[in-house]
Amino acid sequence: MSRHVVVIGAGVVGLMSAYHLRRRGFAVTVLDREGADRGSGEQAPASYGNAGMIVPSHFVPLAAPGVVAQGLRWMADPKSPFYVRPRLSADLLTWGWRFWRAGTAAHVRASAPLLLALNLASRDEYVALDDELGGGIGLERLGLTMLCATQHGLEEEAKVAEMARALGGRAEVLDAAAVRALEPGIELNVVGGVHFPDDAHLDPGALMRAVQARLQADGVEFRFGARVVGFELGDRGVRGVTVRPAGGVDETVTGDEVVLAAGAWTGRIARLVGLSLPMQPGKGYTLTLESPSQRLSVPSILTEARVAVTRMGERLRIGGTMELGGFDEGANDLRVRGIVEAARRYFPRLTEAELAEPPRWHGFRPLSPDGLPYLGRSRRVPNLTVASGHGMMGLSLAPITGKLVGEVVAGEEPSLPIGAMSVERF
Ligand SMILES: Cc1cc2nc3c(=O)[nH]c(=O)nc-3n(C[C@H](O)[C@H](O)[C@H](O)COP(=O)(O)OP(=O)(O)OC[C@H]3O[C@@H](n4cnc5c(N)ncnc54)[C@H](O)[C@@H]3O)c2cc1C
Repeated sequence: MSRHVVVIGAGVVGLMSAYHLRRRGFAVTVLDREGADRGSGEQAPASYGNAGMIVPSHFVPLAAPGVVAQGLRWMADPKSPFYVRPRLSADLLTWGWRFWRAGTAAHVRASAPLLLALNLASRDEYVALDDELGGGIGLERLGLTMLCATQHGLEEEAKVAEMARALGGRAEVLDAAAVRALEPGIELNVVGGVHFPDDAHLDPGALMRAVQARLQADGVEFRFGARVVGFELGDRGVRGVTVRPAGGVDETVTGDEVVLAAGAWTGRIARLVGLSLPMQPGKGYTLTLESPSQRLSVPSILTEARVAVTRMGERLRIGGTMELGGFDEGANDLRVRGIVEAARRYFPRLTEAELAEPPRWHGFRPLSPDGLPYLGRSRRVPNLTVASGHGMMGLSLAPITGKLVGEVVAGEEPSLPIGAMSVERF
C-alpha cells in the first residue's frame, strides 16, 4: 500500500507539494480551513490575488542592509509602501530583532546564489507544468522591468543588475528611450529601468484552479473547511492531525508523513507540535483593472514605490505595500490610496476613475526573519516536513519548493542544497 502524506494548507506551496508527492506515488490528502470557494472574495489566501511574478531577478533577500533604515523612514508616511502597526507583541519584537540582525552584506552574499538558483529552477518547473496542463495558466516569458522614476533609483537598480550578471544571470540597464521602446503606446514618467529577461509571469487564480483540478483528477483528496487545531504525537512524530470542521466535531486525520505549508499561519500551527518558526504576516493589496486604458506589456515594478504591475491577459493587476500588523483582516484605505497614487505618478494617463473602480484584494505574505523559506524535515518531529516562509516570492518559488518537498519526503537527495533553509535555524 502506498504511503500517505497529509499536507496542511491548499495555497500554492501546498498544491505544488501535493503535485510532486503524488508524482512519487504517495497517497495525498490536502487539508484547508477555508471552503472550496476560497479563491473568491476580498481576502482570499495569498496565493490567489498576488501579482503573479516569477522572479529570478529577486535574489536579494528581504533582510538586507539598509532595509530597516528605509522602513523606519517610510513609517512616518501612511501612504508609503511599508508600515508596522505599533503593538506590544513579543513575537513581533523578537522577529524584528532577528530581521535586523540578518540584514548584513554577508547574508546577502550567501543567500543570493541560492535564491537565484531556486527561482530559475522554479521558472523551468512552471514551463514544464504549463506544457503538461496544456496551457491555461497565463504563463508568459516576457521578463520583468524595474521602472525607475529617479536617477538615484536607477543607480541602485544598476548595482543589482551588476550583481545579477556576476551571479550568471541576465540584466540590462535601460535609459528612458529604451524603456519606451519596450512599452510603445504607454506614457511613462521614468528616467530608465533595468530589464531582467529571465523572469516570467502567470495568472495565479488560473494556476490554482488548474493545479487543484489536476490533483483531484489524479486522486489527491481535498478536505476543505478543515481547520487544523492540534496534533497527536507518538514516538515517530505526528500520529494524527486534529481538524475541526466548521460547526462539526473534531476528527483525526492520520498519515505516515505530514507537510506543513500553511502560509503565514505556519508559525502558529508549528507551535502546536512544539516547533518554533518565527514568522510574521506581511499584508499586501492588489487592484485588478478589467480593461485598463494603459496596459503595460512587460510586468514591472515601480521601483521607488515598491508597486508591482502585471498584465494578465486583458487585465492589469497593480499591487504592493507591506504592513506588519498581525492578522488584522481589515483593509487600510490609505495604503490602497498609496498604491493608486504611485501608479498615477508612473503612468500619468491612468485615470483616477479607472483606479477607483476595480475589486480590491488583500493577503498575507509568510515572512521569515531572514527572508529565506523554511524548507525541510524537522529534527524534533521526524515525520514533519515544513514548506513555508516564502515571503514576497511564494508564487515564484512554489514549484521548486514542491519538488524539494517530494524529494525530502521520499528520502531522495534534494536537487538543490536546502541546508540554509533549515526549519530549526532560529
Ligand atoms: C500583494 C501581494 C503580491 C504578491 N505578489 C507576488 C508575486 O508577484 N510573486 C510571488 O512569487 N509572490 C507574490 N506574493 C507572495 C505570495 O502570494 C505568497 O508568498 C504565497 O502565496 C504564499 O503561499 P502559501 O501557499 O505559502 O500560503 P497561502 O496562499 O496563504 O496558503 C496557506 C493556506 O493555509 C491555510 N491554513 C491556514 N491555517 C490553517 C489551519 N489552521 N488549518 C488548515 N489550513 C490552514 C489557509 O487557508 C491557506 O489556504 C504576493 C503577496 C501579496 C500579498
